[in-house]
Amino acid sequence: MAFDFKSLDHIFYMREALKEAAFAAQSGERPIGAVIVHHERIVGRGRAEHLKKHNRLAHAELNALLETATNLYDYPHDNAVIYTTLEPCEMCLGAIVMSDVVNHVVFALADRWINPSPMFEIPHVRHHIQNYVGGVLEKESAALWQQYRPDELVLIHDGRKL
Ligand SMILES: [Zn+2]
Repeated sequence: MAFDFKSLDHIFYMREALKEAAFAAQSGERPIGAVIVHHERIVGRGRAEHLKKHNRLAHAELNALLETATNLYDYPHDNAVIYTTLEPCEMCLGAIVMSDVVNHVVFALADRWINPSPMFEIPHVRHHIQNYVGGVLEKESAALWQQYRPDELVLIHDGRKL
């Protein structure tokens, strides 16, 4: 069956990413979670684990990718989708591109602090990522930040003040 991005149940998969975000927050981490979907199956999960891994690179999306990119190594450009509760940072967006696994990005809350959206317009990024969609369950994601990291939610919403 042909891949149809619009027919995917974005709400269902984002709720799974939000579960990962809630687990992270309950462990004292930032409330960020991600799942990777391939052929309508969740094939990878990740959550923010800075404290657990003692590593500031342990972002939810990168954690999910590191697990999934191995399993999907033989399926490059096969329309896998990453669902993440916060817009991917520049590192994670780069990892998504370099994985050759994920061709579609769905995020909940836009990150105006890092402001990664313009990176989607880089030709190499656009070549790999066919859909880059935000706003799916963004209120639910924001509610987790409000509960666990309200000061950081202000930065995410308002970005940098010049
Ligand atoms: Zn990241």
